[in-house]
Formats: sequence, structure tokens, C-alpha cells
Amino acid sequence: MRPLKYLGGYPPHVLARVHALIEQGRLRDVLGGRYGELHSVRTDGQLYDYVQALKERHLRQSVPLAKVVYDNKLQVMKHALGTHTSISRVQGDRLKASREIRIATVFRDSPAEFLKMIVVHELAHLREPEHDKAFYRLCTHMAPDYHQLEFDLRLYLTLLDLDT
Ligand SMILES: [Zn+2]
Repeated sequence: MRPLKYLGGYPPHVLARVHALIEQGRLRDVLGGRYGELHSVRTDGQLYDYVQALKERHLRQSVPLAKVVYDNKLQVMKHALGTHTSISRVQGDRLKASREIRIATVFRDSPAEFLKMIVVHELAHLREPEHDKAFYRLCTHMAPDYHQLEFDLRLYLTLLDLDT
């Protein structure tokens, strides 16, 4: 049985269920049934607008976004499901912080809910740098089913790996 690298840290009974789905060839159908809807956020400009709209709704007071792009060099897990970079730059005579969000290109073709999940994750880091309670509270504020989405995203990435 090959290890499930996207599901490290999950309890054995959960992993056994995932292995069973894979062996029965049902993982794709299970995910497809839940997440059939694609999104149309194709370009970096559309991605910026998408992220900005969510930020306006939930995190209006946070630092402005300098840049939001799809990045095909990002490895999803290595960068903890995305990256968030602080950029300080001089604007006029004062230093102003702004933020850059990079989203792994795999999300351009993913179901709509997974793009939303990763964007919520990255937006939450504008306020909470660590993956702690406060961070996940903010995530579930923006997406009430955040934990389910993150687990299912891990299943989705597992499925993509099986295909290659
Ligand atoms: Zn993170």
C-alpha cells in the first residue's frame, strides 16, 4: 500500500477508508459527486478580483493586496497549501506593508470549492501567521465547511497523484 503523502497526520481509520476508496476505484466518483462545479477564474487578473472580493467581504481592514497570481512553480504541500509573502516597500516617505498571494496553478483547473478553500487559507494568513486556533477560526468564518474542504482537497490531490 503506498503512503498517502497528502494525508499525513490523519488517524489510521480515516486512512483505511481512503485506501478502500482507492482500491475500489471510487475516489474519483466520490469527489466528483461532491465537487462537480468548476470555476472560471482563469487569469491572474480574474484571480486578483476573486481574492479581492472575498477580502472585501470578510477582511476589509487588513493590509492591501499588492499582487495575486497563479504560480506554476509552487508545490502545494511544501508551501503548506499556498504561500503568503510580506513585502515592505517605500511609498512616498513612509514604509507601507502590502501583501502578495501566490496560488499553485493546480487550482486553476480544480473544482470551485477548492479554489475558494485555498484563497480563504491565504487570506486568513493576512491576520494570523501560524496555523493555530485563531487561524482556523478565521478560516471557518469565511468558509463554514473549511475543515471538510481541506480534507477533501487532500483527497483531490491524492487522486491527481494516482493519475500521473
Ligand atoms: Zn498556511
